[in-house]
Amino acid sequence: MAARPAPYLDSLNPAQREAVEHLDGPVLMLAGAGTGKTKALTTRIVHLLNTGRARPNEILSVTFTNKAAREMKSRVSATLGQTVEGMPWLGTFHAICVKLLRRHAELVELKSNFTILDRDDQIRLLKQLIQAAGIDEKRWPARQLSSIIDDWKNRALTPDKVPAADAGAYNHKGPQLYAQYQARLRELNACDFGDLLLHMVTIFQTHPDVLEQYQRWFRYILVDEYQDTNVAQYLWLRLLAQGHRNICCVGDDDQSIYGWRGAEVGNILRFEKDFPGAHVVRLEQNYRSTPHILAAASNVIRGNSSRLGKELWTEADSGEKVRLIGHWDGEEEARWIGEEVESMQAGTRGMAPRGLDDMAILVRASHQMRAFEDRFLTIGLPYRVIGGPRFYERLEIRDAMAYFRLVVSPEDDLAFERIVNTPKRGLGDKAQQTIQRIARDNGLPLVEGARRAVEDGAIKGKGGAALRELLDGLVRWGRMTGDPDMTHMELAEVILDESGYTGMWQADKTPEAPGRLENLKELVKALEGFENLQGFLEHVSLVMDNESDDGGEKVSIMTLHAAKGLEFPVVFLPGWEDGLFPSQRSMDESGVKGLEEERRLAYVGITRAEEVCTISFAGNRRVFGQWQSQMPSRFIDELPEDHVEVLTPPGLYGGGYGAAGMSASASPQIMAGQASGLHDRASRADVYNSPGWKRMQARSQERPVSQPRESRAQVIDLDAVSSFETGQRVFHQKFGYGEIIGIEGDKLEVAFEKAGTKKVVAKFVHAEDD
Ligand code: ATP
Ligand code: MG
Repeated sequence: MAARPAPYLDSLNPAQREAVEHLDGPVLMLAGAGTGKTKALTTRIVHLLNTGRARPNEILSVTFTNKAAREMKSRVSATLGQTVEGMPWLGTFHAICVKLLRRHAELVELKSNFTILDRDDQIRLLKQLIQAAGIDEKRWPARQLSSIIDDWKNRALTPDKVPAADAGAYNHKGPQLYAQYQARLRELNACDFGDLLLHMVTIFQTHPDVLEQYQRWFRYILVDEYQDTNVAQYLWLRLLAQGHRNICCVGDDDQSIYGWRGAEVGNILRFEKDFPGAHVVRLEQNYRSTPHILAAASNVIRGNSSRLGKELWTEADSGEKVRLIGHWDGEEEARWIGEEVESMQAGTRGMAPRGLDDMAILVRASHQMRAFEDRFLTIGLPYRVIGGPRFYERLEIRDAMAYFRLVVSPEDDLAFERIVNTPKRGLGDKAQQTIQRIARDNGLPLVEGARRAVEDGAIKGKGGAALRELLDGLVRWGRMTGDPDMTHMELAEVILDESGYTGMWQADKTPEAPGRLENLKELVKALEGFENLQGFLEHVSLVMDNESDDGGEKVSIMTLHAAKGLEFPVVFLPGWEDGLFPSQRSMDESGVKGLEEERRLAYVGITRAEEVCTISFAGNRRVFGQWQSQMPSRFIDELPEDHVEVLTPPGLYGGGYGAAGMSASASPQIMAGQASGLHDRASRADVYNSPGWKRMQARSQERPVSQPRESRAQVIDLDAVSSFETGQRVFHQKFGYGEIIGIEGDKLEVAFEKAGTKKVVAKFVHAEDD
């Protein structure tokens, strides 16, 4: 070993050091969450470079996300005290394979400039083949075939290798269509995501000279999150490592959460068979979490039968117990979490203030994010969504908002440009240039330029007719804004329907379309708390403006899957309800496989937390537009009593809402600010009398946590609008606290503490009873 100093080794424990310094031959690091696997792997790269064992381009290092790759590069640079020029082979499996495949494309009959199809393209192509084969796509959706093919690719099965057991797939046409699909891709000089790996495996298997070249080239191989590799990735790694066997894999069988995408936890278990004499390192000291958090995670994962079983310990102070709280519905849950985040930021609760970057909300399903985003926008709490755009930045939301903007202010040229040909109206670049020119020459807004273009016959034919229809629509919708018989929610629906925008997504058969339609519904729902369209648009533009990326601190929102490998001092885990988490699908499945994967996801979630971990559930939830009453997750029963503190929801504290003397059927109506669909919901009493809730309550003594501000709010009867007076302090479900500065019929003008002055419908306002 070179005599260069290696101070970076001092920050490792003996087991980690062993894994870092054992450079020759296969090494497997198998250890639980937060034990420093990634840290050891990163240090190993540093050590390889520092000792001169390998140059940066001779190390093949596989991470699970591009973000993880960037982080690893910057950590290596920081430790070495210099930027690491070119670690070209540090990245995800896909990123690395694209590079390799471009070099050897001709070996699988592609050109090096092949295109990579996204899922939309893939589905479109499959549809053509399905139609040509005379198959009824309604009965046999293309999406289904697409997942079958993905699954074969994940298992490294080319069409000729599909096993007899799978012959019946997709109405017995699966294997044949798979072969046709691959042939078609070759004709198009294209491949899909799964092909990137599959083609490389094929090339390595059929061209030993190419394989040997890379076996020599990649002198050291490192793999993080090994438990989530699928068969194709596993074969690819095994082929590359076969020569020198300098492969170091790290993973945790308890964190295998991609089984649904073909990951095989068995890969980690057979490492020692594939690489006899492998040096196995186990790490048991956890450096991330407090003992309470660790105990909660360990107890939950103990419920799984198929696992290697590992014990974790920590030297950290015991800290706070894992906190558990139930809420009336998803909106209340979001509101409570927003307040918790703010109070932690302010440093109440007897703790030092924390930055927003230190806090994360991890959800099971991405549709859970909307409630948090909306709440945070309302109270002006900066947030970022990791692994996807934020709600108001999504394509369909921006399009819809452009329509609303144009109705409210017809001179909004940017909005006009955005929607003039969305949906397609046959108004291409040329027509749009004509409109621009006329508008410019006459000093008119684009809408007026367009009107003139139609009237003067500068734009004729189909495009002209469609444009006229749009312009007439804009005038009509503009008039409707003053129609007292129409709510602005209804108007929003009319605009989206009559403009053809909703229809465009209904006609779209890509897998994303249903989600986009769902988001449009969510958008209309979000309008509810505002007096009119304009108020809503102002609200969004103001908050979006505040939110433009200023590099400031933000609370993170992401799915549990996207949170793998990350850590945060404060973690919120909302939505722990049967059917949501664990997912309905995993519960419906026969056998425990799906459920065990969900439990591993729970383990991943809890172990992201360093100091404060809060698990919550709601008694009612709107799932795809329907109110459902929810039961606490079965995983909640698996939390160890001694390490969990049950918090009392605001609504139960000190009489709170209950003391307002409302009947059970009326109070939830006002509480949740929802005027429709109530009959579908369980009453508050039903939820709090449910066995799951009682079990939970019995575990721990009640203790109020959040400032019981809301609980002092008295619920006002729907007809009691006149009981409000100016100067009164009130609470609004969406905007929080404020003071009434004006009353107009059933509307109140309120100066909100956080959301500014707004006109709101009185029935959504509670008077604060001081
Ligand atoms: P996961 O399974 O969640 O991916 P991991 O095993 O990869 O976790 P790391 O992310 O590497 O764990 O480390 C967890 C935390 O512990 C990090 O903040 C890291 O800096 C710290 N850590 C790791 N090893 C040590 C050590 N020897 N001394 C002090 N802190 C350490
Ligand atoms: Mg890690």
